Amino acid sequence: MVSGNKWRKLKYNLLEAKQNEINTILSFGGAYSNHIYALAAAGKLFNFKTIGIIRGELTLPLNPTLQFATSCGMLLHYVSRENYQGKEEADFIEDLKRAHEDFYYLPEGGSNELGMKGCAEIIEEIDIEFDYITTACGSGGTLAGLITGLKGKKKALGFSALKGEGILNDKIESLIGNADNYLTNWTINYDYHFGGYAKIKPELVNFMRNFEARNGILLEPIYTAKMFYGLYDLIHKGFFKEGERIVALHTGGLQGLEGMKAKMSKY
Ligand SMILES: *Cc1c(COP(=O)(O)O)cnc(C)c1O
Repeated sequence: MVSGNKWRKLKYNLLEAKQNEINTILSFGGAYSNHIYALAAAGKLFNFKTIGIIRGELTLPLNPTLQFATSCGMLLHYVSRENYQGKEEADFIEDLKRAHEDFYYLPEGGSNELGMKGCAEIIEEIDIEFDYITTACGSGGTLAGLITGLKGKKKALGFSALKGEGILNDKIESLIGNADNYLTNWTINYDYHFGGYAKIKPELVNFMRNFEARNGILLEPIYTAKMFYGLYDLIHKGFFKEGERIVALHTGGLQGLEGMKAKMSKY
């Protein structure tokens, strides 16, 4: 099974690789990455070799995400956090090319133009009227895709899962290629990261459990719980106008729950 926003971002990239007769896809992620998980699954399903460049050193036993990736046939290659920072630099990519056979280069999170194209399709699939669409943001590709899918209509609201005011705005601008400043109907809220990427707090875990009990919909604490927490908080604070209709995108990511269980059990 491949699903979630990471699959959306893979779809057109895999088609592109196939068209160019490239059989190996190389990409990047942390040890619990939903993107690495989805790429490994899709690689197995559609007969691609996959290589995952993983941030940080090898830790045994492998966590469930990397165990799954390996079981799908993904080759894992670990790089120090320091080197991982430079993963988009020419030298680093040249080294990868020498070490591995010809590969299709897929950026972290699958967030490139083709990744956005897959996410833009979400908009066409929504068959109800709405004023806002909201999503959790990490690398920004999903929000950028939604923005292009909206074509300047309605509003997109992202919730950053990463710490730092404004850190994603330039990336989104460059992804949507907003040269003529036409796509301005979006904002990113940076108030609900709970300390940073994969950081959690008791009130987030409590919210998540209540949400699941009330709605019967599972969340995970890295992305979707932070978005829904933020969204509910903004609703309570009167951010939205009376009668406005909000579509909140559940981006998936539930595979990552296993890896967060130990952390969450403390609360
Ligand atoms: C990666 C991810 C996001 C963020 O998507 P980006 O395109 O990286 O901004 C949101 N939710 C889940 C579950 C994810 O795995």
